[in-house]
Amino acid sequence: MAELSQILKQATGVVAARGEGVYLYDEQDRRYLDFTAGIGVTSTGHCHPRVVEAAQQQVGKLIHAQYTTVMHRPLLTLVDRLSEVLPTGLDRMFFANSGSEAIEAALRLTRQATRRPNVIVFHGGFHGRTVAAASMTTSGTKFKGGFSPLMSGVHVSPFPDPGYFGWSVEESTDFALKQLDYVLQTLSQPEETAAFFVEPVLGEGGYVPGNTRFFAGLRERADRYGIQLVLDEVQTGFGRTGKFWGEDHFDVRPDVLVTAKGLASGFPLSGIAASDELMEKAWPGSQGGTYGANAVACAAALATLDVIEDEKLVQNSADRGEELRGALASVASGHDQITDVRGLGLMIGNEFRDADGNPDGATAGAVQQEAAKRGLLLLTCGAWSQVVRFIPALVVNSEQVDEAASIWSDAV
Ligand code: PLP
Repeated sequence: MAELSQILKQATGVVAARGEGVYLYDEQDRRYLDFTAGIGVTSTGHCHPRVVEAAQQQVGKLIHAQYTTVMHRPLLTLVDRLSEVLPTGLDRMFFANSGSEAIEAALRLTRQATRRPNVIVFHGGFHGRTVAAASMTTSGTKFKGGFSPLMSGVHVSPFPDPGYFGWSVEESTDFALKQLDYVLQTLSQPEETAAFFVEPVLGEGGYVPGNTRFFAGLRERADRYGIQLVLDEVQTGFGRTGKFWGEDHFDVRPDVLVTAKGLASGFPLSGIAASDELMEKAWPGSQGGTYGANAVACAAALATLDVIEDEKLVQNSADRGEELRGALASVASGHDQITDVRGLGLMIGNEFRDADGNPDGATAGAVQQEAAKRGLLLLTCGAWSQVVRFIPALVVNSEQVDEAASIWSDAV
């Protein structure tokens, strides 16, 4: 019998047979509380009936029509619907299948529009695993090991991470902006810099939220030097942080918004949004792909938007997130090895450190495994895998939050 490649390391050991809401069932029909949601993808829960219905209907009508050849109605309707939720002025979209592809689309667009070669990214940022996206990723060496040379023209500047520096938010923001000026002036050069690529909340890098002054500093420098500000909302979009977009917490206007995970409840769909003016500068033929904006994925995305609105999932994310953060903070208060519980909405991380204050991925991993044995699926993140993260579907209710917190407490 064929076996899966060694390079696929599996976090939980579960073989899923079916999913329903926040629950997954394995092949022996054992039930798990799934607080991974396919890495923050299935925001409407597994197999939401309205998403299933929309996809089934679409499969019977049209599965695929390559959209630079023939347009289809689900895509046209989706563009209209997204324009209602996208930040003002970002009226043009381009669609692909994964976060990495969308990041590459944003990279191509900003380099073409500015005719500049460099990009500046931020420590702890994760933008994907394709070669360009991995070149822009700094949230762990494992994402870029062994396949050099990577893309050139990438410069890295600090993200304001108070926990890492052991400073206040103010101090870490002062430092991050000062270092950004240093990187701009001495390494990248403003007139050679096409874009800043940044996440509103570091995802794979450890669930570290940015802050308003930091993003205002990026916006101001972007405007001053004609640099494009690209916000990677792949993980933070569609209500995950308790607001529709992660950037809504920080009052920052991007030039390009990159989105994927929460967009289509698990169907592969990603996109970038930018102004007409910027999109006009894309070189014809340079953006596209055979499978982007698949008709079934677009139909699922439309149903996803309906569910988010009708079931008030953005508010639920904020409310259940607060409950969950409170419950996790209370568990942490009895355990010295959990040194921080942080995040926004239903994107919450628990940081593990050892007695010397060093990041403790071994303990985080052991607790994650204990939780899985007790029926709660979780993932780790952070450069040392020292953060255990909770990212349930946004349909999670208070009882499920309590159940997860109780299993977590036992596992810790
Ligand atoms: N950007 C961010 C912020 C992500 O969290 C991810 C994936 O986790 C990506 C980009 C890459 O997305 P994908 O894995 O779909 O290529």
